[in-house]
Amino acid sequence: MSNHSQSELLQQLRTELGSAAVLTGADVSARQVGIWDERPVQALAIVRPQSTEQLSGVLRLCHAIGQPVVTHGGRTGLVEGCVSGPGDLVVSLECMTRIESVDETNRCMTVQAGVPLELAQRAASDAGLMLPLDLGARGSCTIGGNIATNAGGNRVLRYGMTREMVLGLEAVLADGTVISSMNKMLKNNAGYDLKQLFIGTEGTLGIVTRAVLRLHPSCRSESTAFIACDSFAQVQSLLPFLDRELGGHLSAFECLWRSFYQTAAAGLNAPLADGSSHYVLVESLGPDPAVDNEQFLAVLSAAAEKGFLSDAVVAKSGKERDSFWAIRDNVEACLHFGESFVFDVSLPLQDMSAYVDQVLEKLDGVLPGHRSFVFGHVGDGNLHFVVSPGAERSRAIVESAIYQPLQAFGGSVSAEHGIGLEKKFWLCLSRSDAEIRLMQALKQALDPDGLLNPGKVFDMNGEHGLQ
Ligand SMILES: Cc1cc2nc3c(=O)[nH]c(=O)nc-3n(C[C@H](O)[C@H](O)[C@H](O)COP(=O)(O)OP(=O)(O)OC[C@H]3O[C@@H](n4cnc5c(N)ncnc54)[C@H](O)[C@@H]3O)c2cc1C
Repeated sequence: MSNHSQSELLQQLRTELGSAAVLTGADVSARQVGIWDERPVQALAIVRPQSTEQLSGVLRLCHAIGQPVVTHGGRTGLVEGCVSGPGDLVVSLECMTRIESVDETNRCMTVQAGVPLELAQRAASDAGLMLPLDLGARGSCTIGGNIATNAGGNRVLRYGMTREMVLGLEAVLADGTVISSMNKMLKNNAGYDLKQLFIGTEGTLGIVTRAVLRLHPSCRSESTAFIACDSFAQVQSLLPFLDRELGGHLSAFECLWRSFYQTAAAGLNAPLADGSSHYVLVESLGPDPAVDNEQFLAVLSAAAEKGFLSDAVVAKSGKERDSFWAIRDNVEACLHFGESFVFDVSLPLQDMSAYVDQVLEKLDGVLPGHRSFVFGHVGDGNLHFVVSPGAERSRAIVESAIYQPLQAFGGSVSAEHGIGLEKKFWLCLSRSDAEIRLMQALKQALDPDGLLNPGKVFDMNGEHGLQ
């Protein structure tokens, strides 16, 4: 593509969308690639459409000249999904932030894809309903980004991942075609469920512009506890016990290994003394505060009697509950020990302790100066690591220590963050050749020129990482 056609494209975009919708030069490089990635954005321009029709027009123009496009939501993704090159056009959904409706009868809401998650949660709550999707980046991440990454978060255990909350969506294909699948019904088996093509495919098959999200009745009681355990065996017994005894009300089971708790709680109101090997943040949502809170206390006492926990503190107010979650969400505290790498893997609960021990042993051997923190949505089989390698600064060594042992446990190199550019090399540890070839075939069918988020998730040339 020539410089001439790119400058013509910019001119056409300014004419169709208005100059304010097209950022170039310093307005592009003033933005950073990600919330924890300080590199400046590189791009031909950042385009900010306000509607599906405008975005369709943008993609039609790009398609005509073979212009690659990278999509930006809230840029909180953690796998380099938003990285673009100097010749790419970035499409940002930041001006598509309309909450179109909250439908109490059908228990759903219709939003534009640029709506921040927290605003959508609030709009649902104002209508007496609940959007259960919740994650630490709630203030900045967007519904479109959540859909594109099939985000997980804190309540997957009870409500599932984003996929379970999408009733319908609208997306624009690489050639500008609008696919409107704005279904509102719980049941609709009329042919292929096309929305699934755009959920968790990281913007490689289409750009999500609007969505219908499934809502749930608000829970009237919220019981939260921070629990100390002296071994992972206790954690492992506690989860099924709480799940069963709370009668389906258990909504979060977050486990913090000691080093994470120490670091994240420093300077905050630590509810439990340091010294235990594991700390668990537990949340139970129910319909009746008068009964549920008492039942929650009784179940925790029973767990203590059975030896499934060593200590526990129950939040007595909304403020105290928020202070518990502030510790869980304080991942940033672990990023201050030099260059840091964040990982997201999943594996069966019964293998977690052995896996973590193997990884830490390997890191001790190859990077004696490393600082490593382990935590995660353990109720979903999901672990996160933050690793600061120390003097060596070798990402490849750390990746190998984290990913290689997963294979023996049948684990996944990505529980919830996706693949982006960062994990492409490792995709073949979790997906077979046949699976990757089918992914390539879908990409070829929907975006034959490879214009949308080029190079993300897998390459089209048949090479996929480890052989
Ligand atoms: C503090 C913190 C906590 C987090 N906790 C969690 C967690 O608990 N669970 C979890 O799953 N993730 C978590 N994340 C990761 C991140 O927040 C999620 O991946 C989130 O869904 C990304 O949304 P976003 O709008 O920021 O997307 P972006 O980062 O902007 O984009 C992510 C990917 O989706 C594509 N994309 C964005 N918008 C669209 C669209 N409209 N159409 C098509 N493609 C699009 C992008 O091109 C990119 O490939 C966390 C991140 C941080 C910083």
